Amino acid sequence: MPSRLLLLVFTLLLMGGCSSPEEAVTTADSATALGDPVENVFLITLDGLRWEEVFTGADPWLLNNNDYTNNREEVASRFWRDTPEARREALMPFFWDVIADEGTLWGNRHLGSTGEVTNGEVFSYPGYNEILTGFADETIVSNDKVPNRNETVLEWVNGQPGFEGRVAAFGSWDVFPYIVNEERSGVPVNAGFDSAEGELTEKEAWLNELQAQTPSPWTAVRLDVFTHHYALETLKSDRPRLVYISYGETDDFAHDGDYRHYLDAAYRTDAFIRDLWTWVQNDPGYAGKTTFLITTDHGRGEQDRWVGHGADWKGSEAIWVAALGPGFPHVGEVGIAVSGEVPAPVYQNQMAATVAELLGLDYTNRLPIGGSLLD
Ligand SMILES: [Zn+2]
Repeated sequence: MPSRLLLLVFTLLLMGGCSSPEEAVTTADSATALGDPVENVFLITLDGLRWEEVFTGADPWLLNNNDYTNNREEVASRFWRDTPEARREALMPFFWDVIADEGTLWGNRHLGSTGEVTNGEVFSYPGYNEILTGFADETIVSNDKVPNRNETVLEWVNGQPGFEGRVAAFGSWDVFPYIVNEERSGVPVNAGFDSAEGELTEKEAWLNELQAQTPSPWTAVRLDVFTHHYALETLKSDRPRLVYISYGETDDFAHDGDYRHYLDAAYRTDAFIRDLWTWVQNDPGYAGKTTFLITTDHGRGEQDRWVGHGADWKGSEAIWVAALGPGFPHVGEVGIAVSGEVPAPVYQNQMAATVAELLGLDYTNRLPIGGSLLD
């Protein structure tokens, strides 16, 4: 039982938030006791989605700015509400109806909960390296397609007994085969504009055809709908135990200065995650023994600086983390109001160790890694 989380759970109990310890620590459909390893982990990232939108919904400054939001009335009718709580629920209903209710959410700075990257670059390749290896590598200073010299937790888990050939990665960005070092690691990566290969299901053949015929707004990043459905099809056929899915639209629409489509992408990705969770709960091989860990590679600036991120873009270091499923106690939204004290910060370099610990594995790497969120 993790000490920090234990404290939060007990505080919650003392505050009368739950009527019994069982209720406090039980997730829906949990067939795995708290603290026991789970059989499967889904690590999911949303590229460059700010904590501000996750915890307070649509940003009034950006929503009311003609430079960033077209069709303002129509967008407001869908995403504007009078309170941050109602706005975030309108934007990401799965996060706020299900994860807040059954899982844990870190990173609401208004409540004193901070999530931070530890790499100094604060853009994608350094961030994904940090998430996937558990440490910041100061030699990674570009998004170039360079095969990662570091072994990721995906590669490491793929080499553990019982996990060989049971790890798979999916990304919308075409640099993921390099970040995961697909060639060396043996972890299959379907990313960028990759088609499904090998023996195709009917849906995979259809997805390959549609993807080739669909115009993409970007040259290096495909629309997330393809990443999502390729992942879902592989789940059904290959039954991976560790799945990594990287959705990318949120970052690219932000770089385009398009707040409407950024909000739409956040809303759609929330629905994709609900789709995955619903599938998991209805599959006997995954239900009750699968945990989701969800985060982002970086934050972004505020107001006019929302379009970018990086070392000179204040706010880029701020991230958020969500967890749902057996293996994590249910704390809900982490914050002062819940715990009565300022919660410990969480760091991007803790994701890899957390993934491994959830699977009951003791992960190490060539450099010291961040500790698990469960410790
Ligand atoms: Zn970016």
